[in-house]
Amino acid sequence: MVRIYFHEERCKGCGLCVKFCPKEIIVMAEHINAMGFHPATVTDPSSCKGCAVCAWMCPDVAIELERDEVHG
Ligand code: SF4
Ligand code: SF4
Repeated sequence: MVRIYFHEERCKGCGLCVKFCPKEIIVMAEHINAMGFHPATVTDPSSCKGCAVCAWMCPDVAIELERDEVHG
Protein backbone atom coordinates (compact mmCIF):
# COMPACT_ATOMS: atom_id res chain seq x y z
CA MET A 1 0.00 0.00 0.00
CA VAL A 2 1.39 3.38 -1.01
CA ARG A 3 0.19 6.73 0.15
CA ILE A 4 1.11 9.82 -1.82
CA TYR A 5 1.15 13.19 -0.17
CA PHE A 6 1.58 16.60 -1.82
CA HIS A 7 3.00 19.45 0.22
CA GLU A 8 0.77 21.85 -1.60
CA GLU A 9 2.34 24.96 -0.11
CA ARG A 10 5.71 24.08 -1.72
CA CYS A 11 4.34 23.44 -5.22
CA LYS A 12 5.28 25.95 -7.89
CA GLY A 13 2.97 24.41 -10.46
CA CYS A 14 5.75 23.47 -12.89
CA GLY A 15 3.83 20.41 -14.09
CA LEU A 16 6.80 18.03 -14.20
CA CYS A 17 5.08 15.46 -12.03
CA VAL A 18 1.99 15.64 -14.24
CA LYS A 19 4.10 15.05 -17.33
CA PHE A 20 6.11 12.13 -15.98
CA CYS A 21 3.55 10.11 -14.02
CA PRO A 22 3.21 6.86 -16.00
CA LYS A 23 -0.33 6.37 -14.69
CA GLU A 24 -1.40 9.91 -15.66
CA ILE A 25 -3.15 10.44 -12.35
CA ILE A 26 -1.62 13.81 -11.40
CA VAL A 27 -3.36 17.03 -12.41
CA MET A 28 -3.11 20.68 -11.51
CA ALA A 29 -5.80 21.66 -9.00
CA GLU A 30 -8.21 24.45 -9.82
CA HIS A 31 -7.53 26.37 -6.63
CA ILE A 32 -4.44 28.48 -5.99
CA ASN A 33 -1.94 27.95 -3.17
CA ALA A 34 -0.37 30.60 -0.93
CA MET A 35 2.34 31.30 -3.53
CA GLY A 36 -0.23 31.92 -6.25
CA PHE A 37 0.22 28.67 -8.19
CA HIS A 38 -2.18 25.90 -9.10
CA PRO A 39 -0.79 23.01 -7.04
CA ALA A 40 -0.48 19.45 -8.29
CA THR A 41 -2.81 16.84 -6.88
CA VAL A 42 -3.65 13.16 -7.48
CA THR A 43 -6.96 12.29 -9.06
CA ASP A 44 -6.97 8.58 -8.24
CA PRO A 45 -4.60 7.62 -5.41
CA SER A 46 -5.67 3.95 -5.63
CA SER A 47 -4.11 3.74 -9.11
CA CYS A 48 -0.72 4.96 -7.91
CA LYS A 49 1.86 2.22 -8.40
CA GLY A 50 4.37 3.80 -6.05
CA CYS A 51 7.11 4.25 -8.66
CA ALA A 52 8.15 7.56 -7.05
CA VAL A 53 8.94 9.15 -10.42
CA CYS A 54 6.84 12.17 -9.43
CA ALA A 55 8.80 12.63 -6.20
CA TRP A 56 12.16 12.37 -8.03
CA MET A 57 11.09 14.88 -10.65
CA CYS A 58 9.78 17.51 -8.27
CA PRO A 59 12.34 20.32 -7.97
CA ASP A 60 10.65 21.58 -4.82
CA VAL A 61 10.47 18.31 -2.89
CA ALA A 62 6.73 18.75 -2.64
CA ILE A 63 5.79 15.09 -3.07
CA GLU A 64 6.21 12.39 -0.45
CA LEU A 65 5.46 8.70 -0.75
CA GLU A 66 4.80 6.51 2.23
CA ARG A 67 4.92 2.78 1.89
CA ASP A 68 3.46 0.29 4.35
CA GLU A 69 5.94 -2.37 5.34
CA VAL A 70 4.95 -5.83 4.17
CA HIS A 71 5.70 -8.46 6.80
CA GLY A 72 5.79 -12.19 6.47
S1 SF4 B 1 4.35 7.36 -7.56
FE1 SF4 B 1 4.38 6.96 -9.80
S2 SF4 B 1 2.29 6.29 -10.26
FE2 SF4 B 1 2.22 7.24 -8.25
S3 SF4 B 1 1.61 9.37 -8.66
FE3 SF4 B 1 3.87 9.29 -8.59
S4 SF4 B 1 4.55 9.01 -10.70
FE4 SF4 B 1 2.35 8.50 -10.61
S1 SF4 C 1 6.85 18.68 -9.85
FE1 SF4 C 1 6.60 19.53 -7.78
S2 SF4 C 1 6.53 21.76 -8.05
FE2 SF4 C 1 6.19 20.82 -10.06
S3 SF4 C 1 3.93 20.68 -10.24
FE3 SF4 C 1 4.65 18.73 -9.39
S4 SF4 C 1 4.50 18.97 -7.15
FE4 SF4 C 1 4.42 21.00 -8.07
